[in-house]
Amino acid sequence: MHATATATPPVQTSGARALSAAIEQFDAAADHLSLEPGLRAILRVPKRELTVRFPVRLDDGSVQVFQGYRVQHNVARGPAKGGLRFHPDTDINDVRALAMWMTWKCALVGVPFGGAKGGVTCDPSSMSVTELEALTRRFATELEPFIGPDSDIPAPDVGTSAQTMAWIVDTVSMHRGYSIPGIVTGKPIAIGGSVGRADATGQGALYTIEDAAGRIGLDLRGARVAVQGFGNVGEATARLLYDAGARVIAITDVNGGATNPEGLDVPFLRRHLEEHGTVAGAPGTSRISNDELFALDLDILVLAALEGQITAANAGTVRARIIAEAANGPVNPDADPILHDRGIFVVPDILCNAGGVIVSYFEWAQNRAAIAWTLDEINERMRHQILRAAGDLWDRAAADGISQRLAAHVIAVERVAEATRLRGLYP
Ligand code: NAD
Repeated sequence: MHATATATPPVQTSGARALSAAIEQFDAAADHLSLEPGLRAILRVPKRELTVRFPVRLDDGSVQVFQGYRVQHNVARGPAKGGLRFHPDTDINDVRALAMWMTWKCALVGVPFGGAKGGVTCDPSSMSVTELEALTRRFATELEPFIGPDSDIPAPDVGTSAQTMAWIVDTVSMHRGYSIPGIVTGKPIAIGGSVGRADATGQGALYTIEDAAGRIGLDLRGARVAVQGFGNVGEATARLLYDAGARVIAITDVNGGATNPEGLDVPFLRRHLEEHGTVAGAPGTSRISNDELFALDLDILVLAALEGQITAANAGTVRARIIAEAANGPVNPDADPILHDRGIFVVPDILCNAGGVIVSYFEWAQNRAAIAWTLDEINERMRHQILRAAGDLWDRAAADGISQRLAAHVIAVERVAEATRLRGLYP
């Protein structure tokens, strides 16, 4: 007698899905450029990967071993650059995908960096500040041989903050015997951070949204907006859109969502989040799920949480005129043609959220020159740089008759390929 086995499809982690999305996007750009096989083979994989396992003593006296990663995808255009993520779903494939996207982002917006990313598989929401500090300091120690102002410069990402960066600066400075603020960006202003860095990703998202709105004749004043994710990026983007006169009608975070068709009071929701750990249940709002938020009748949908949120399964429900990808990889490649057929104007992630890395570059440059720019200088330079990249992108999409996402990747891959060709092969 034969046992009847029900075929269970292999479970794909969110990291594996992100990596296959990143590779699919790269392949499409490489095909469009007819990239030679050697260059394709170089750019399709990360240059260097580090996996570390390290013990941390928890508050109850027990010892837990954590796993962390740093992946440098490409350094042909300059030192590796990219954030550190503390999240339960962080794994090597997630970090590989995010590192590759950093390479393309830096090339697209013309900052002289390559791409990297790192992270630790952990749940920071369940850890105390003491535990997080111990984890960060030990992880920084493990990373130290690979990072530095001339080699690889981390920054905040999901689950990390300016405080995390301050612990890294201090840890490495203690080891070296002198202060080394340029080892990370996104650190507090009091220890060499830049004005404008905290809001930079949201500020850059606002500039690219204004630009996209102008291109489709949409007035931001009164525009109906929903924002998924209310952290570093989502909160700043929501607040800046609210300040610009848009009507933010729904926001979700990891614990729930809040909606009010008349418009939410975004600064009030931030205070509610600080007190209650979620925007859900705020007075004067009704609860809303992500899927309900995606399907709202909107002018602008801002995705500012995690990868793979809009897929072929839910893309057909999206009614927004503009999708702003403030997060990295929030739209799966299988959703792209559906959004395209629905006439939705997509501001691709490697443009939309590049304000963060542009101002990180300004922070790094200020650290090297030992000078400090004003907020107006930072924002004006960033606006100029991100809008120039937006102009390049829309021109290329029109000239080659391709989607905005493909145009973004084509420009970026072309620039990294050129740098790699010029440098040649060693030895
Ligand atoms: P964060 O940790 O500060 O915030 C993440 C937010 O997403 C939180 O509000 C969280 O509650 C929410 N969230 C998580 N899971 C969710 C879910 N299932 N549904 C709804 N909301 C959910 O992280 P961040 O720095 O704001 O990063 C957000 C995205 O932006 C990530 O894709 C990150 O890689 C990207 N990004 C960040 C920066 C930066 O400067 N921090 C720069 C460029 C891109």
